[in-house]
Amino acid sequence: MQAFAYAAPRTVDEAVSLLAQHGERARVLAGGTDILVQLREGKRTVDLLVDIKHIPEVNQLTYTPGEGLRLGAAVPCHKIYEQAEVAAAYPGLIDAVSLIGGIQIQGRATVGGNLCNASPAADTIPALIVHRATCLIAGPQGTREVAVEQFCTGPGETVLQPGELLLALHLPPPPPHFGAYYLRFTPRNEMDIAVVGVGASVVLHEDHTRFASARIALGAVAPTPLLASEAGEVLTDKVISEEHIQQAAEAAQAVARPIDDMRGTAEYRRHLVGVLTRRALRGAVERAKKEA
Ligand SMILES: Cc1cc2nc3c(=O)[nH]c(=O)nc-3n(C[C@H](O)[C@H](O)[C@H](O)COP(=O)(O)OP(=O)(O)OC[C@H]3O[C@@H](n4cnc5c(N)ncnc54)[C@H](O)[C@@H]3O)c2cc1C
Repeated sequence: MQAFAYAAPRTVDEAVSLLAQHGERARVLAGGTDILVQLREGKRTVDLLVDIKHIPEVNQLTYTPGEGLRLGAAVPCHKIYEQAEVAAAYPGLIDAVSLIGGIQIQGRATVGGNLCNASPAADTIPALIVHRATCLIAGPQGTREVAVEQFCTGPGETVLQPGELLLALHLPPPPPHFGAYYLRFTPRNEMDIAVVGVGASVVLHEDHTRFASARIALGAVAPTPLLASEAGEVLTDKVISEEHIQQAAEAAQAVARPIDDMRGTAEYRRHLVGVLTRRALRGAVERAKKEA
């Protein structure tokens, strides 16, 4: 592995200043499960890694029923599903963090790192999108907020500017009669990335026979994870039925822009978008019925 400097700042200001000084030649280190592999394989070179794990703000995981979840950028995946209240409120996110790697990886890997690595196939990003998560970003000019669906700009690329880092994610409190679900298809059961991943969330009307609204997000079928707005809107105020779920699945297929690669052809991926969207919607509806 190439030689690089290592810094472990204790404050956000210190981290921002180090990142700003080194620009493109510095990267944040959170769990290290992506960046250390990339450095070892020579896919990336840096002069400085800025370890954020000693900064209190990025280690906070706080859930308040009226305000939602604040998930610090350095919180490892396992801490999220270990909290029963958080697991109950954000089931789509729990599906995703439970799929990442295995237990050992989940002990280190962060949702913030999964997002900032910006892989089109990252498991947490569609789940964050359907939970309406926003990113709190700190930089030399202060802080700003960006919706997760606008955060990734291409494979490995994000809206983060030199000197900026992700501080935390905010997930709003789930409304009544809400359910969410994330699932992916991989040819192997474990330790593989998604050929396609789909997240869905639904809000049902009080009588549980109709959708009030729905949100669908797709992974691994475009250069960035996608919010399939049209597919969710198809379901607004519709009766919960296989016919309407099928219409939403077809709308999701229309939004997908998959490519052929060694994991599957574009046609295969488009087919999977249909299958997984139907399953994610059914799963979200079941959870919404139980939650209420
Ligand atoms: C064996 C194995 C299996 C895996 N399986 C899966 C899987 O099933 N699904 C999946 O989606 N991923 C998987 N991954 C990838 C990886 O574990 C995840 O992407 C992980 O969530 C990254 O988080 P991290 O904290 O380790 O990030 P790091 O490696 O520390 O950082 C990742 C990138 O994000 C940047 N970054 C991190 N935090 C911030 C921040 N706060 N602000 C700005 N930039 C930041 C870093 O500079 C780096 O470029 C796997 C990895 C391994 C090694």
